[in-house]
Amino acid sequence: MTRPADPPGDETNNNAERKMRFLFALRSKGVTEARVLHAMEKVDRGLFVRGLFAERAYEDMPLPIACGQTISQPSVVGLMTQALRLQPRDKVLEVGTGSGYQAAILSHLVRRVYTIDRHRRLVREAEAVFQALHIANITALSGDGSRGLPDQAPFDRIIVTAAAEDTPGPLLAQLKIGGIMVLPVGQSDAVQSLIRVTRLATGYDYEELRPVRFVPLVEGLAND
Ligand code: SAH
Repeated sequence: MTRPADPPGDETNNNAERKMRFLFALRSKGVTEARVLHAMEKVDRGLFVRGLFAERAYEDMPLPIACGQTISQPSVVGLMTQALRLQPRDKVLEVGTGSGYQAAILSHLVRRVYTIDRHRRLVREAEAVFQALHIANITALSGDGSRGLPDQAPFDRIIVTAAAEDTPGPLLAQLKIGGIMVLPVGQSDAVQSLIRVTRLATGYDYEELRPVRFVPLVEGLAND
């Protein structure tokens, strides 16, 4: 017996429904800023997840990527993006390129994104996706992001997507006055806190935002 063919438009309906569920999950977890939701609607997370897990790309969960790393949970990406209070003219540094998904979201919201990862392979693969998406305002580099990117400093915003025990000093130094940095801080296997650091003329203001769980920030360039 042959199965009747799917009616035309079914695929489109499935995609639309999947997207609606994805956005609904984000909203219900507190991602409410229209600009951020719009950017997350535009960037297809499926392109940043390969292999076995690709079909789970639209679920609100972290997933494994190459080099033993993870692509963050979409709602956490949204909440961190919101916490940065981005302005369209901003120059942003992301430490921890991973899949490139967070950088791609940022690229829709600001003028220029620099993203750095200690795994060259991840940088290469992320760059290929940026090219396929015709994203032209991201510079992806391999290196130890815990030292920041002195050549391009200072930055309006810095986002770190791997957890350090403490806020790395070079990153604090590379933040503009009035600039904002969002990062997870804490022991890698214990509870970490997402914090927002604002650089004031006279020092730094720290706010604790929520508990999170990220892979550790590791010093030095990896071998792959
Ligand atoms: N933002 C990513 C998720 C990153 S996972 C995304 O959207 O997919 C954390 C990443 O931080 C990993 O890829 C890891 O290699 C990287 N990382 C860890 N320590 C680092 C360091 N010192 N410098 C640069 N990248 C680092």
